Amino acid sequence: MVKVLIVEGSIPDLRESVSAAKLVGGEVVALVYGKAAEKAEEAAKYVSKLYKVATYVPDPIFAAVKKVYETEKPDIVIGHGTKNNRDVLSRLAGLNDLPMATDVIKLEPGEGEVVYERGFLSERAIAREKIPLPAIVLVNPKVFQPAEAEGQAEIVELPVEEGQVKLVEKKEKQLSGINLEEAEIIVGVGRGFKKKEDLKLAFELAELLGAQVGATRPIAADYKWLPEDAWIGISGKRVAPKLYIAIGISGAPQHMAGVSNAKIIVAINKDKSAPIFKFADYGVVADLYQFLPVLIKKLREKKKS
Ligand SMILES: Cc1cc2nc3c(=O)[nH]c(=O)nc-3n(C[C@H](O)[C@H](O)[C@H](O)COP(=O)(O)OP(=O)(O)OC[C@H]3O[C@@H](n4cnc5c(N)ncnc54)[C@H](O)[C@@H]3O)c2cc1C
Repeated sequence: MVKVLIVEGSIPDLRESVSAAKLVGGEVVALVYGKAAEKAEEAAKYVSKLYKVATYVPDPIFAAVKKVYETEKPDIVIGHGTKNNRDVLSRLAGLNDLPMATDVIKLEPGEGEVVYERGFLSERAIAREKIPLPAIVLVNPKVFQPAEAEGQAEIVELPVEEGQVKLVEKKEKQLSGINLEEAEIIVGVGRGFKKKEDLKLAFELAELLGAQVGATRPIAADYKWLPEDAWIGISGKRVAPKLYIAIGISGAPQHMAGVSNAKIIVAINKDKSAPIFKFADYGVVADLYQFLPVLIKKLREKKKS
């Protein structure tokens, strides 16, 4: 029977990884750190044995992962591709000469191997690959359904071993209140908007639809018209809304990689040959400055009636 070790820093990630693990394995144990370690009682509901290490720092997380790997001798290690996981699990791979699959969106069991799919060419294509066990698999967020609680496993607390990296100070990150990962509807804005003030059209539309506003990289990173939390794409956030309305966005692969899990994409662009129309389920060829005021007016009238 294949044994899976999950390594995660948050409960939502743990729940998704448990579902992924069940596709390939039998016994599922986990090591949690960071936020998930603070909620170890909750985390213990999803696995048959839980290790916790109460730290956010990669060095002691790695020391704990190494210890648990040697104790449990799992066939597969599964985790989300977060910064900490990429750090500690690539060290584990190097140390034990393990193959590692990244950006995994589908998993299947194999005979002494794991078969998986992952997006490549900025998510324009899907590769189906296999690697021999034991192996490490990094999964993408929001691909696997969160598992339901099943019991209450034993919790083993591991010591926080100091490494070369030391936590000097902890500061709350200034967040803008944008939570694109959870949003069901996102209005995405691009360089089709000529001035920062014009974004009010997108915010009005978003308010009417109960949506969040996201952006392409130039809008958030270069012009700084919106905070970096709004930046969607390969180097920004990956989102999975039910509806993504892309306004004045050309559809560059680096942006579209971030919305490949959107259920429906609507594009509004004045250039009928813009690449975004290849990805869109519905396309509107129009100048946003003419189209949005009309759309907003119609939605307002509909809301009133
Ligand atoms: C390594 C790397 C990583 C990157 N990562 C990201 C990333 O994570 N996210 C990201 O978004 N980008 C990323 N980029 C940048 C990416 O390649 C594109 O440059 C960017 O996505 C383009 O943004 P845009 O669509 O807003 O602008 P543009 O490509 O300039 O498109 C603007 C669009 O607006 C339309 N338009 C203009 N005026 C109007 C109007 N009045 N009404 C309607 N439509 C109009 C135009 O026809 C055009 O299609 C990355 C690039 C590199 C090299």
